[in-house]
Amino acid sequence: DDTILQIYGLKKYFPVKGGMFGKIIAHVKAVDNVSLEIKKGETLGIVGESGCGKTTLGRTILRLIKADDGMIFFETPKNVQDRIRELVGKKDEKSKRELEEIRKKYDLNLKKDKEMMPYRRKMQIVFQDPQSSLDPRMTVKKILAEPLLTHKVVPPHKVEDRIIELLELVGLKKEHLHRFPHEFSGGQRQRIGIARAISLNPDFIVLDEPTSALDVSVQAQILNLLKKLQRDLKLTYIFITHDLSVARHMAHRIGVMYVGKLVELAPAEDLFNDPLHPYTKLLLESIPIPDPTKRKKERKLFTGEVPSAVNPPKGCRFHPRCEYFKAGICDKLEPPLIEAKPGHYVACHLYTKG
Ligand code: SF4
Repeated sequence: DDTILQIYGLKKYFPVKGGMFGKIIAHVKAVDNVSLEIKKGETLGIVGESGCGKTTLGRTILRLIKADDGMIFFETPKNVQDRIRELVGKKDEKSKRELEEIRKKYDLNLKKDKEMMPYRRKMQIVFQDPQSSLDPRMTVKKILAEPLLTHKVVPPHKVEDRIIELLELVGLKKEHLHRFPHEFSGGQRQRIGIARAISLNPDFIVLDEPTSALDVSVQAQILNLLKKLQRDLKLTYIFITHDLSVARHMAHRIGVMYVGKLVELAPAEDLFNDPLHPYTKLLLESIPIPDPTKRKKERKLFTGEVPSAVNPPKGCRFHPRCEYFKAGICDKLEPPLIEAKPGHYVACHLYTKG
């Protein structure tokens, strides 16, 4: 039941330049005030339509992109984690000062690049497109040797043994050592991407649409490999996907993002059986049903466009598309994320705490 990661108020706005002088004219609010916690050994699915900010969220957590604001605490001692929870959101000077002291020591968002080195080892990523994330001029051996040598996790004479061990862990063979990425199938290339991600014995991996570029049959093999590795290597995952059935198959809990905001967060089965947010309900109703004769009611179709993360709608960002919209509330006040049921969080004015 240990927490591995705590995130508070994470924000990433990308400037939009325009006009003759290329001045900043607006900001894309890609990740806007997202807070969540992840437990050791769990898979947290992050779902949402493209452009909802899920990829940016994954990258800011890893500090591949520097967040503009917010706090990221990774593997802090339990007593510090508890204290952080107590202090976050407190307004008095003494609490603020204490939180600042804790942040100076532990907050990844305040660390200098060179201080990130040990965290880079423990926090890894698998990208969507193995084709473009693997250097086409490097053999598998070189691709996998690079992180091992940079981080000096094994002595140079042991590097090849470790690479062979990694290949076997992901279902490839020693014979593959001297081949180039283009000599592999899409699924095999993703296995190489996974081998690279686990090469430094990480504790935490962001899986960013790791199977979206693959055929369905290959998808299942890769998902099962990821599950097996999670069990064997005690990994914690954030699994980013636009595919709700994949999220259901993989995740213990699921967070739903909409235009930069986390709008619902719940145990996976609870989210599927009892979705609370009107957006989540629509998302679930739009999943294709394999046998259309079995469907009980017509699939609802989304109405309206996904609003842009540049100048998103005021109040609740979903209000232009929401069938429960209440004028004067939904278009004025931003709904906070509240715990509507134990462990089930939602950001919508239809619900109250508990
Ligand atoms: Fe719909 Fe209002 Fe809830 Fe937003 S806050 S999802 S507009 S009911």
